[in-house]
Amino acid sequence: MSGTLRPKTAFWRGLRLRCAWCGSRRTFIRHWLGKYPRCRTCGLEWRREEGFELGPVALNTVITFFCLTVGMAIGFVVSYPDIAVWPILLSCIAVAVLLPILIYPLTFTLWFAFDVLAHPPDAAELAEARAALAAGWEHKAP
Ligand SMILES: [Zn+2]
Repeated sequence: MSGTLRPKTAFWRGLRLRCAWCGSRRTFIRHWLGKYPRCRTCGLEWRREEGFELGPVALNTVITFFCLTVGMAIGFVVSYPDIAVWPILLSCIAVAVLLPILIYPLTFTLWFAFDVLAHPPDAAELAEARAALAAGWEHKAP
């Protein structure tokens, strides 16, 4: 990786479930709800600091609450004056349960993009990532 990572590039990669740093599809997303400890291409750890998971959880919560608010507002406006309480309620429950699962990996790749932009990996972290790749960590991962 040479040069500086541009925000547009990093977030675009994150939106497509790619590693924000190297752009690879072979990132730390293992399956929809699972993760490898590192990007399988560049070797960077996604948990770059203690409590990293709070970022994706917060992002997931904000996106879900935003969609619930917009959905309720549309439901109220469309069905006014006889507000369709049950359809709106059932729709909101479905969104509240399914949307966080649907966007779960996306929140991690997007937060990883934000994280590598906020404090890009230094030479020591990149060297450690290369060393982990060379050591074949992926084949030892559970
Ligand atoms: Zn990577």
